[in-house]
Amino acid sequence: MIVTLTQQFNFDASHRLDHLPSHHPCHNLHGHGYVVFVEVTGEVDPKTGFLIDYREIYDAVKPLIDQLDHHHLNDIEGLPIASTEYIARWLWERIKPKLPILSKITISETPLTRCEYRGE
Ligand SMILES: [Zn+2]
Repeated sequence: MIVTLTQQFNFDASHRLDHLPSHHPCHNLHGHGYVVFVEVTGEVDPKTGFLIDYREIYDAVKPLIDQLDHHHLNDIEGLPIASTEYIARWLWERIKPKLPILSKITISETPLTRCEYRGE
């Protein structure tokens, strides 16, 4: 039986999108309460009834969320642009080696928008 599990994480951070014209509101320094959904997909172990213990997902992801939480995203190493698209890839590249069954990262900056990334 193949299933997908999703675990939610949250972090608050500031950013500015310097490449946008100065009249664009996202050019200015501002912040978001980001919501991250980490999805894993795979075969359920018939002995445990689990695909994976949620605790293992938490242990793989939380240290990365801590690197972003209450930080200025423009200062994060390896993040060339502080957009949700690049944050999703930044998380993917760091989580996938620890969690090979990672199947999707979704990031929401506002309740009305979200970015989904499944690797290249
Ligand atoms: Zn923004």
